[in-house]
Amino acid sequence: MNRHLISAADLSRDDALLILDTAEELAQLAERPIRKLPTLRGRTVVNLFYEDSTRTRISFEAAAKRLSADVINFSAKGSSVAKGESLKDTALTLEAMGADAVVIRHQASGAPHRLAGWVRGSVVNAGDGTHEHPTQALLDAFTMRRRLGRVDGLRVAIVGDVLHSRVARSNVLLLRTLGADVTLVAPPTLLPVAVSAWPCDVSYDLSAVLPKTDVVMMLRVQAERMNAAYFPTVREYSRRYGLDAARMAMLPDHSIVMHPGPMNRGVEIAAEVADSARSTIVEQVANGVSVRMAVLYLLLGGADLGGADLGGAGLGNAGTGARQADAGKADAGEADAGRTDAGRTDAGREGAGWLSNEAAEVAR
Ligand code: ASP
Repeated sequence: MNRHLISAADLSRDDALLILDTAEELAQLAERPIRKLPTLRGRTVVNLFYEDSTRTRISFEAAAKRLSADVINFSAKGSSVAKGESLKDTALTLEAMGADAVVIRHQASGAPHRLAGWVRGSVVNAGDGTHEHPTQALLDAFTMRRRLGRVDGLRVAIVGDVLHSRVARSNVLLLRTLGADVTLVAPPTLLPVAVSAWPCDVSYDLSAVLPKTDVVMMLRVQAERMNAAYFPTVREYSRRYGLDAARMAMLPDHSIVMHPGPMNRGVEIAAEVADSARSTIVEQVANGVSVRMAVLYLLLGGADLGGADLGGAGLGNAGTGARQADAGKADAGEADAGRTDAGRTDAGREGAGWLSNEAAEVAR
């Protein structure tokens, strides 16, 4: 496995399966009376959040703490320093504190990649601009496997605001690696220009896709990222691309409904669908902790233990295992030019105005 987790594309099929299998074993921990393992004792995990995200931060924090790591929450929001400079300064500070892993969320696509060139520890991308959110894709795959027994061969529809969605991008990459067939369903205005190069199909017709779907993943309409009108009205959007009870009935009986959260109930998903037995939304949150534990465990020293003997003693000893070598560190700082494609991301954060952004600002 790579030292960092920045893109779902960093993961080979074997890497991804190792993470899912490890998460499965770690999930059993949640059922025990004492939910903590000593595995990462003495290690420091920094949560570096440039964009508000209570839920994701808490998920990573819980994961690190259940492995006994020390957690430092660094909320960098509101810094007035120019972005590139401030990120580098921050990186040097983290370096001085001896961070073993930095979990970063940043409004600019490419920021985690930059950071990886400046710090010695592992960098985990917890969402960068409209680029990627690989642990979300992992927790989604984990949830599919738990509910449906496999990912390979599943037909997955990802529906809605693909344009602004790092969740969609990471999912397309990971699901492809794991052998699922993905169809993106969205109005043409909410699809990226380059989507034809993505390894998936595209449809504009949700009702036509649903009967052939094992997993339907509804995306949040990201009003705060919209700087123009991408569709006529919310009602029109819901009518064509929202999932209500009538549409849900078009799914095969075994199919599940997913959403990365936070939801706009009544926009992309009806309340009765979100609360139905097919919905995995609450499980996704719980699974997020197990998957993030697996990622931290494997990046911070469990890698060479493989999936072997994770029950009990194996995990306990992993913390003293080999810290991954810093090979490749030498090229830090160079070669990164041009990777930070911040320009293509968040120009229009002021939002479309028709939705209260408060919930989204707090929760995502
Ligand atoms: N919470 C997810 C993200 O950070 C999804 C969303 O914001 O809609 O990308």
